[in-house]
Amino acid sequence: VEPLVFRTAVDLRRHLDTVRQSGMRIGLVPTMGALHRGHARLIQQAREDCDAVALSIFVNPLQFGPNEDYTRYPRTLAGDIALSADNGVDIVFAPEKQQMFGQRHLTFVEVNELQDRLCGPFRPGHFRGVATVVLKLFNIVEPQRAYFGEKDYQQLCIIRRMVADLDLRLEIVPVATVREPDGLAVSSRNAYLSPEERGAAPTLFHALETARSLIEAGETRPAPILKAADDILEKQPILRKEYIEIVDPADLRPVDVVDCTVRIAAAAWLGKTRLIDNVEAALGD
Ligand code: AMP
Repeated sequence: VEPLVFRTAVDLRRHLDTVRQSGMRIGLVPTMGALHRGHARLIQQAREDCDAVALSIFVNPLQFGPNEDYTRYPRTLAGDIALSADNGVDIVFAPEKQQMFGQRHLTFVEVNELQDRLCGPFRPGHFRGVATVVLKLFNIVEPQRAYFGEKDYQQLCIIRRMVADLDLRLEIVPVATVREPDGLAVSSRNAYLSPEERGAAPTLFHALETARSLIEAGETRPAPILKAADDILEKQPILRKEYIEIVDPADLRPVDVVDCTVRIAAAAWLGKTRLIDNVEAALGD
């Protein structure tokens, strides 16, 4: 069955009020469209947990820097509606920019400290843009649950923190990263990669896996772990590392010593395409 597609918050809310009146639990999957198997996994999880699944598609201008890919970001609404239908989405909310940020927008959500870690310094204003649009979507849809991928681990942490700090009444459900057979995390931006860049792209995951295996083998010092990961990245001359860090999964601060479960997160450039990825690692003995 085709999902119902709404272009305005007013129309969507009118429909959702009737959905809620019938006692249905609503799950929200926020996306920027260009849907792929990663998004499908989020939808499937929502389908399992909830009575009605709403998927939002909005390329959020607030979260793109002035020199980033806002204008060339892939927009594939017809295909997105087809993938939504195949995966049992009930409601698609695809607002115009004017709908979300029509009047002069003066109110923003900032999750301090967390927004300044990892990707923060390289994408000023990005997480403020994410948190602001996600809070708007939560207020428009009023879901019981919302689904976020671990692929964007810092985003997941920031949204969870916003929900806790602002007493929002919903549950954030994390979903494991979906990968290509060669390990590359599935991403809408992978479509930008040339064949040569696509060939080099899995190296980012291999570097993270190398770091993870050292931790699982008992290495606790970040320096040799990061050195081993850097050596892998440097073997790929077209891949330019932005950062790789071993962080505390709760506050995203770099750890001095690996003494529990950590997140290893990295970002790198291939030509004009920026890729991010992360893995969990637990100390072995
Ligand atoms: P995006 O459309 O890229 O903003 O992503 C929308 C949601 O899908 C976010 O919660 C992402 O973390 C999640 N997502 C994107 N790619 C993947 C993936 N490969 N595996 C799991 N979740 C993903």
